[in-house]
Order: sequence, then structure tokens, then C-alpha cells
Amino acid sequence: MSDCSRRNFLKGSALLGAATVIGCNAGGSANNNADLDTRAFATPPKDAPTNILKGQIPTKILGKTGEKVPILAHGGMYDLNNVMVGRAFELGINYFDTADCYLGGQSEIILGRVLEKQGKRKESFIVSKDHPHQPSDMLRTIDTRLEKLRTDYLDLYYIHQLGDGEYPKECVNWPKSKEFREVGEQLKKQKKIRFIGFSCHAGILPQALEAAAEGGFIDVIMFRYNFRSVNSDELNKAIDKAKKANIGLVAMKTQGGRVSFKDKADAFKSKGFNDAQSALKAVWADERIDTIVSHMPTLQIVQENAMAAMQNQISEAEQKLLQEYAQATNHLVCHGCDHICSPHVPQEIRIGDTLRYLMYHDNYNEQVWARELYSQMPAQTRLAILQTDYSRAEEACPHKLEIGKMMAQAALKLGNHI
Ligand code: SF4
Repeated sequence: MSDCSRRNFLKGSALLGAATVIGCNAGGSANNNADLDTRAFATPPKDAPTNILKGQIPTKILGKTGEKVPILAHGGMYDLNNVMVGRAFELGINYFDTADCYLGGQSEIILGRVLEKQGKRKESFIVSKDHPHQPSDMLRTIDTRLEKLRTDYLDLYYIHQLGDGEYPKECVNWPKSKEFREVGEQLKKQKKIRFIGFSCHAGILPQALEAAAEGGFIDVIMFRYNFRSVNSDELNKAIDKAKKANIGLVAMKTQGGRVSFKDKADAFKSKGFNDAQSALKAVWADERIDTIVSHMPTLQIVQENAMAAMQNQISEAEQKLLQEYAQATNHLVCHGCDHICSPHVPQEIRIGDTLRYLMYHDNYNEQVWARELYSQMPAQTRLAILQTDYSRAEEACPHKLEIGKMMAQAALKLGNHI
């Protein structure tokens, strides 16, 4: 798809449905309790869905890594148990994305044990992440990742959620910094990792993509990308630069935010619209994207997403419905562009992070995790949320979100348990 046709592909932004990895922050990371959740080794349930879908998911080359990867990958914010992993391999999904903090630190342990038990390490592409205070911290933290995952090497090692509130402002330049470059070189030399990169869903995303293109050493970037963001000129220019630098590009949060607008979604579903599958296809339609990391906590969702991957051409009818759906719901979901609204509120207020936690609470059904993330924001930030006038931020928001109302909901739902 040409750049022009891609940009005209959809007018709008985000959605509901099956997918995407839930993030976390440094405070939520590294529960080093190595107790294993034994559900990972449970006997396959008798009522597991029959494997009606045959065939393999298409593959693409992941940028400069040269690796052939499936266009659909497993996120790791759920139990990747024996059944899930076995079914993944049947479908050609050998790419598993986890992090230090998923499932309170259990995700890596579970994945490592399952892959070891199934003898699938060598066939797998394992991605994990850390939250360094500075890139050089990764020279130390890598050993914990390897230990928990029961492996000698990671295929890909990310800085997680670059640009979130936990990082210093200058982190936007890390993807072109000497320090991060040397970390990658050293870890590769030690054969502890094969490739290096970062994930990002913050407002700095365009700048971080451009910095990576300039720096020349980042192998892969995973970033928030969905049908709501495909028409952003600033983001598209940055993606073009990263693609030109042959950086592997991985989409996450492809569903564009699962906000509580079920009534609106149902109106589209009554027309036969499968919002989750269409949202995936909208991202696959962008040839610059190499793969999608998807949150697929059930075999049914794996099945649906795999079916979409095998028939990944989006029809005109789907395209039209997705566009209409985006237009009807854009004002209900935060798009993470907090560089636009943040200058209009006191410095300590973190609109993007807070509304993302609210999304985890309301739409990912991750209430405990959402509250934990919220509680890890500085006390003065949480205190200020209900005392702040958001009217100027609302005026600046290109999607016309009722920011004040949503922040109050976040404070009520996430803050009343601390
Ligand atoms: S509130 Fe509006 S401007 Fe701020 S991050 Fe969300 S969508 Fe972007």
C-alpha cells in the first residue's frame, strides 16, 4: 500500500475487541518470587475448543533482524500454558512477548517453564523487557530475565514503555545515544541477546522513532498503532523514517482502546461487523508493520485472530464500518498523545498514564492491576487529579475528550482502594 493510500485508508482512530498487551511500570515490575503458578502445567481442559482452524499464519521479515516472524504474536499478560503454547505452534505462532512485570513477574517464569517442558526454546522467538533508570542498567537486569525465562539468550530485549512518567525527559534521545548503543553491542557480544529495541506508547513516540532511525542501532520497535492512529501525519512521517532505516516494526494496542461504549459497538456488530478482526486487518494493511503483538488470553481469541491473520485482506465493507465506528467513538478513548494536553495542566498531572490505567480497569478487566499502577504514581499527582481544572486541556485535545470527567472517574475507580 502506498503511503498516500495508507493514509487515506481510514479517517479516524481506536476500538474494542480481543487484543493488545497491557503495559506496566517500573514499580509494578520484578516480583522476583520464583514460585511457579502450577496452572501452567495443568492437563488440557476437556472442554478445550476443537482445533477447527488449520494452516499456518503468514510470516514477514522483521526489519534488519532478517528473522521470519508470524504476522500475529502472543503477548504475555496472561497464562501462556501448555495448551496455549501448543496451539500457538500449530498455527505458526512462535513469537512470545513478555516483560519483567507481566503477571506480577510470573509471566516470564511460566513461559520459560512451558517452553522448556515442550522442548520449544530453539523454535521460539522470545521477547522480554525491563524498565532501566538508564540504559546501562540492562547489562545487569538481563541476567534476571534469562534466569526467569530459563534460557541463555533473549531473541529481543526492549526498554519497556519508553517515555512513560517513570523515565527522565531525555529518554527520548536514548535510541540514538552512545550508552544504549554500547549496551546493545555488549549484550550481543556476550550472546545474551540477539537484538535490541524499545516499546513505546507515549506522546514521544514520533520523536523516539526518529531518534532510532538516526541512531542506526535499534533493531526493533514495538509501538501503539491502530486504526485510530493510521492517519496521523506526524506519526506516519516518523514510521516512514524508521522503516527506511530497516528497523523491525511491531504494532501493539491494535484495538485502539477498549472503552465502555458497548452500545455503540453493538450497533455495528448487528451489521455483521467483527470489530476485533477488522482492527487487526487495518494494521496488517499497512505494509510497514511487520507483526502484531496481541493480547490473546483464550483459545477462542487465538482462533479468531489467527483466522483474521490467514485472511488478512480488509474488505471495503469492513473498512467502511471501521471508519464509521472510529468516527462514532473517537471522543470516548484516550489516544495517548499527552504531549498535546499535558502543557495545559500542572506538571505533575499525567493524563495519558491515568486514562490508560482507567482503560485497563474498565475494558481489559484488570482492576487490581490498574489500581496498582495508579497507586504507584506519586502521591502529589494523585492528590492533584481532583483539584485540577482541565478546561484548557479539553480545548487542546484533538479528539474532544471530556478529560475532567474521565480523570474524576479514574480517581474514583482506581484511587479509593489506597
Ligand atoms: S486526553 Fe486528548 S490530547 Fe490528551 S492524551 Fe488523551 S486523546 Fe491525547
